[in-house]
Amino acid sequence: MADLKLAQQLSLKCVHCGFCLEVCPTYRATRSEVHSPRGRIAAVVSGALTSSGIETCVYCRKCEEACPSGVEFGEIMSAARRPSLEQIMVHRILEDPLRLYNAARLAKMGLPLQVARRVAQITPEPTLPPEYSDPDPELILFAGCIAPVFFTSTVLRALGFLRQRYRVRLINACCGLAHYAEGERERALTVAQRLGDAAQGKPIVSLPSNCSSHMKAFRQLGVEVEVYDFPEFVELMRLPLPKKQLGLTVHEPCHARLAGLNRYVHSALERMGVQVVEMADPTLECGAGGGYIFEQPELSDEIMEAKKKEVAATGCDTVVSTNFACSLALMRMGFTPIHLADLL
Ligand code: SF4
Ligand code: SF4
Repeated sequence: MADLKLAQQLSLKCVHCGFCLEVCPTYRATRSEVHSPRGRIAAVVSGALTSSGIETCVYCRKCEEACPSGVEFGEIMSAARRPSLEQIMVHRILEDPLRLYNAARLAKMGLPLQVARRVAQITPEPTLPPEYSDPDPELILFAGCIAPVFFTSTVLRALGFLRQRYRVRLINACCGLAHYAEGERERALTVAQRLGDAAQGKPIVSLPSNCSSHMKAFRQLGVEVEVYDFPEFVELMRLPLPKKQLGLTVHEPCHARLAGLNRYVHSALERMGVQVVEMADPTLECGAGGGYIFEQPELSDEIMEAKKKEVAATGCDTVVSTNFACSLALMRMGFTPIHLADLL
């Protein structure tokens, strides 16, 4: 449910300085004020919620990092947006990986919907989500929504690695980030509560890093869960890692960066002896943005073009990406994305 008053109140902090413009991927792609953080805030303040700029925000929150006034841009977008029927449909599909599997199969068969055509174009062949639970599990492996269907081997690798030391239950589910980003705030809370209930007080080790970041903020929604991003857990527990003679580059997903999670990926790779060729800006937005990659194909592809040049400049084909929507974007750019778990 949109909360325009809250969005307008939070917008009052904006002093229109424009420091956020050049970090914004949609502004860089369009050079249009409408598609900039400042332009979006102006639309919210004037109540023009049908402005196309409100729809085209990737919700990467890079503008928050650049803003000297502490504008909570993510909250403004989440409170101001009214999800379309198509977005609500995508959210419901993401809530159940089995539903996502069936929807992806229909899309691959040629379902005549724009969003389905895009899914067919950019996703690998879907596989049935794996199920697993040890008796009396002591921790949860949270695989998210995309990974169990499109990156099943990564999920199984992570599961196998954790099972060497722990009794594990695998949960394939949605964290509600897409809902929250696109204005379905009440449903995002329902999804968070459902996940909190399913975890039954057990620590959650989460594979998709942007979901980890969102779940770490569940407390603000009134839901208590103990969450670790997968590389964070590996590093905090100092789990033994294999040595690897490899050269690759690392993509830093936007929400994981906001939560300070990308440093654990780097430290794990360092312990493994992997040679990382740094991008000039590893945080450059990839154009995925959860449902964005399916819902805004033209702008998403334009944002990918800039990222493609950034990755290509490293000379690496393999890119570590701990977020699976980003991995879909990197695949579309022609690279080979891998999760840290794929190296274990
Ligand atoms: S959001 Fe922040 S950085 Fe952007 S124009 Fe407003 S005050 Fe300046
Ligand atoms: S969240 Fe990202 S896309 Fe949206 S205005 Fe901020 S920087 Fe631009």
